[in-house]
Amino acid sequence: MTLSASTACTNRGEFGLISRIAAKVITTEGVITGIGDDAAVTELSAGMQLLTSTDMLLEDVHFRRAWHDPYRLGRKSLAVSISDIAAMGAIPRWALLSLAIPPGLPPDFIDDFIRGFLAVASEYRVTLIGGDTCSSRSGLTLSVTIMGEQFPDRIVRRTGAKPDDDIWVTGTLGDAALGLRMVEKGEGDEFIVGRLLDPTPRVSAALILAGAGLASAMIDISDGLLADFGHIAELSQVGGCIRCSDLPLSVSFRSHPAHITRIPYELALSGGEDYELCFTADSSNREKIIEAMKKCGIAVTRVGIVASSPGVTARNPDGSRFQVHTEGFTHLI
Ligand SMILES: [Mg+2]
Repeated sequence: MTLSASTACTNRGEFGLISRIAAKVITTEGVITGIGDDAAVTELSAGMQLLTSTDMLLEDVHFRRAWHDPYRLGRKSLAVSISDIAAMGAIPRWALLSLAIPPGLPPDFIDDFIRGFLAVASEYRVTLIGGDTCSSRSGLTLSVTIMGEQFPDRIVRRTGAKPDDDIWVTGTLGDAALGLRMVEKGEGDEFIVGRLLDPTPRVSAALILAGAGLASAMIDISDGLLADFGHIAELSQVGGCIRCSDLPLSVSFRSHPAHITRIPYELALSGGEDYELCFTADSSNREKIIEAMKKCGIAVTRVGIVASSPGVTARNPDGSRFQVHTEGFTHLI
């Protein structure tokens, strides 16, 4: 349905909220009917297929109101969904947002949340076309559904990695996991905490890779490089080796050794929520990838190699196996 107050919890306040949200939405092309009718009507670009992904964000499971200010929570809730569409090499187009609002939530909170959500929507030319609102007995629950489109032969899946392909990542790794440790301690380094609370989906990099057919498989790093490359490996029926010494670490990350309980590799390998891209590519594409990423201003690093036998390992510079103690990121709790 389009954004509406559920019958079970209809009241004037919610209709007021919907009209406030609807008034702020900027419509982009392809939206025939947006918020207000029983269903939204959209039109795909000629020859493209529809990609759809949905995410639920629960208070005290995926976010804490004490850490996430409403504006950045609104930004992040859409950005992480856009990241899933980017991970397929597709163009994000339309979003649905559902909110279960607990008693006592200040009205300003929702307004600021929507402001953040719609700011990211306009940055990526995504239109909010509907959703639902209702009351929650306790805790704020957010559900975001994102839709994107792409030509069938440009969609990049998790299934295409081949033995001897390079494993690449965009940006830097471990920042968001370090950011989580910092906000837990009530500390703040703007860059590091921003990486956790206001991540950037790598849409332009993904679209360039997809458009040029440079990536054989791709995923966005939400649960940590080892876990997320593990998904590519499993679905492509391959394995892989990550070289710890090649993991890209930000200057800010390197300047915070006190917070890194073991070795920095641990957070870079298994810290979640960086929302960088991990992709595989034939080694003959190396120069083209570096050139293409330079053009869109995104750092890209070759961090490993796909193996024919199953299993994903991380190696120290001396070739010994790096044992990760916490594999895969548990989102906040
Ligand atoms: Mg994903």
